[in-house]
Amino acid sequence: MPKPRAVQYNSLSVCPEPKGKKLLYCPFCNHKDSRVLESRLTAENSSVRRRRECEACLKRFTTYERAETIQLLVIKSSGSREPYTKEKLRDGVSRACAKTMVTAEDIDNLVDSVEGELAGAAKREVMSSALGDLVLLRLRTLNEVAYVRFASVYKAFQSIEDFIDELNHLKVNR
Ligand SMILES: [Zn+2]
Repeated sequence: MPKPRAVQYNSLSVCPEPKGKKLLYCPFCNHKDSRVLESRLTAENSSVRRRRECEACLKRFTTYERAETIQLLVIKSSGSREPYTKEKLRDGVSRACAKTMVTAEDIDNLVDSVEGELAGAAKREVMSSALGDLVLLRLRTLNEVAYVRFASVYKAFQSIEDFIDELNHLKVNR
C-alpha cells in the first residue's frame, strides 16, 4: 500500500455548491466525492483537519478547513439563537467540575473533543440540549459529581426527584 501523501487545502480551495455543501476534488484523480475518516481541530483550534479517502481511487489526503467558516449557532430551549463560544462552554463545564479531581487540562480536552465532534458534523446550528448531551457523554466517564451537576443545569432539574432519577440512571448505566 503506498504511503498516503498529505495535501494541504485552505478554505479557498473549498468551492461552495449551490446547496452550501462543500465540494472538494481528489488531488490524485480529481473525483469530487471523498469520505471523511477523521475530523479534528488543529492545536490552535483555528482550523479543522480532516482525513479523507477518495471514493474513486481510495487514496487518502488531508484537508485543513478554517474554523471561521463554521459559525455555529446554539438554539436555546426558548427557541432563541446565540453564537457558540468556546468560553461559554468551558465556563459551564468548569463550574460543574469545581472542587473535583478534574483538571484544567481534562476540561480543555473535553471542550476540544466536543468541538471536534461538532465540526465533524458540519452543522450550522445545534440545540443547546444536544450540546449538553455531548458534554454529559464525556463527563460521565470523567467525574460523576461533575456529571450530575452539569445535568442539573442543562436538564433544568426542578426538584430533588429529578436529581434522584438522574443518579439512578447513572447507576443503571455503570
Ligand atoms: Zn481519487
